[in-house]
Amino acid sequence: MPLSEFEVIRRYFTHPAPGARLGVGDDAAIVAARRGMELVVTTDMLIAGRHFVRGTDPRRLGHKALAVNLSDMAAMGAAPRWATLALALPQADARWLAAFSAGFMATARRNRVALVGGDTTRGPLAICVQVIGEVPRGRALTRDGARAGHDIWVSGTLGDAALAVAAARGKLKLAPSDRARVQSRLDAPRPRVELGQRLRGVAASAIDISDGLLADLGHICERSGVAAVIEFERVPRSAVLRKHLDRPAARAALLAGGDDYELLFTARRSRRAAISRLARRVKARLTRIGRTVKAGGARVTVLGRDGRPLRVEETGFDHFA
Ligand code: ADP
Ligand code: MG
Repeated sequence: MPLSEFEVIRRYFTHPAPGARLGVGDDAAIVAARRGMELVVTTDMLIAGRHFVRGTDPRRLGHKALAVNLSDMAAMGAAPRWATLALALPQADARWLAAFSAGFMATARRNRVALVGGDTTRGPLAICVQVIGEVPRGRALTRDGARAGHDIWVSGTLGDAALAVAAARGKLKLAPSDRARVQSRLDAPRPRVELGQRLRGVAASAIDISDGLLADLGHICERSGVAAVIEFERVPRSAVLRKHLDRPAARAALLAGGDDYELLFTARRSRRAAISRLARRVKARLTRIGRTVKAGGARVTVLGRDGRPLRVEETGFDHFA
């Protein structure tokens, strides 16, 4: 017996929502921000064939659909609280739905996010998640706070997710264990939710790296009216990526690969000690890769080992390019 829309919602998407006044089941949800907080709202779509390949593990997809929004919360320094989920499904496949909702809900619970509503319809597979979070009034991190002379920092390592895409497209051959490792960076990103909140008052500007280091750093520069100089050798890379650095696809992944969901932020030099302490506290690697300078000339310059600018053609991912 095929599942009805209402059965799908009841079985897979109706969960207790302790942080909400009213969750799934009415015409709309009701939530309240705590005293002194403002709301931070973000949404992201994942479309089959564009953002993921058909046949992607539904549990990982459920996780990722929420995780990419949590990463936006992290970049704003916000605590995620509530989510809505709009789903277009070609058919109501019970096994797919069970795995997808399990992946989604596991990540929701781990991050104390309540699923409070959504929409379910038949159509080509598409997933649209909205997350609402809270931040103390006036304290959100934004892209426009960088000033000339700041350090530029990134969390974790960059490029593995894009390396997985390159391998899937046959641009590069990886050993099976390396392939699995980078594939999990692509399918199961770990948004820096705690780090983002702890960066409030420490970072001057922040963004999450979803379109690639150069593009996302470019966004900070544009919004802040500064330029950036980074050193190629300092850009943090995994052991797998390092093995393949002689390949153009690997260098492109490092500088311009999307989907890493690490945080990029700028901070005054005087924050260095605080940032080192923070790195230990949240058990994240935080690496200083360069500095911001006055605007004029190239928006982002990448220096090579010899201190001379590299010619960089890969500038990130643009859906309409
Ligand atoms: P309406 O037609 O009034 O929009 P729906 O029948 O679409 O109501 O939805 C009924 C309830 O189920 C609403 O509370 C809605 O937010 C929720 N809902 C629908 N689809 C989902 C979903 N995929 N995930 C979570 N909640 C959902
Ligand atoms: Mg509806």
